[in-house]
Amino acid sequence: MKYIIIGLGNFGSSLAEKLTEQGNEVIGIDTDMSKVDAFKEKISHTICMDATDEFTVTGLPLKDTDIVVIAIGENQGANVMATALFKSLKVKRLISKATNHIHKRVLQAIGVDEIVLPEEESAERWAKKLCLKGIVNSFELSNEYSIVQVNMPEKYNGKSILDMQIKEKYNLLVLTTISNRQVNTAIGKTRNETKVKGLADPHDILYKDDVLVIYGANKDIQRFLK
Ligand code: ADP
Repeated sequence: MKYIIIGLGNFGSSLAEKLTEQGNEVIGIDTDMSKVDAFKEKISHTICMDATDEFTVTGLPLKDTDIVVIAIGENQGANVMATALFKSLKVKRLISKATNHIHKRVLQAIGVDEIVLPEEESAERWAKKLCLKGIVNSFELSNEYSIVQVNMPEKYNGKSILDMQIKEKYNLLVLTTISNRQVNTAIGKTRNETKVKGLADPHDILYKDDVLVIYGANKDIQRFLK
């Protein structure tokens, strides 16, 4: 996977380092030359530039980039400007870091796909989440085994847990499922309703917006998500 990480502060630099270690191609960007120098050995590529400058930003290989992370924090103005700029350039997946809940609302209004609140989630956790496509949340039991929340792969839409043969093919156990449905409200609007089922039943039918909670070996989870 190819990433661009903007802002090599604590969060951005650890995320960029982890993703590089995991074999991804990462471009780390900062306006501060000393940051760029400090991380040039640890991140695949580093560039000293201002991410709010439209002319320079359009020179980046955005079409080849899978995920852009705006990790500028303290300077909220620069964060919002850079976020809006990358959003308007229609990058594939845009993640931005918010410093507080009001900042988060501004980012939501810009239409950012995902928002990071580093006080709540570490760079390490995000690195893992990003590397395993489809993972919504994960809980590592040991180096080998995890419980993960994953988006239902679309090919299983309308199938039962039994039909998916997840136990037979991947040696994974579905613990429960979480459904996300649009429901009509009394005032004629729709809203999302999230419902966690009890223990999964092999005959439960799953739909494309559902989330599965599965347990198994990390390598089997990765195989399932491929
Ligand atoms: P953290 O809290 O994760 O350490 P900071 O807000 O301290 O985050 O760091 C953000 C980084 O973003 C800093 O290294 C800063 O130099 C960089 N930065 C700020 N504005 C820009 C910009 N316009 N373009 C690129 N990098 C920027």
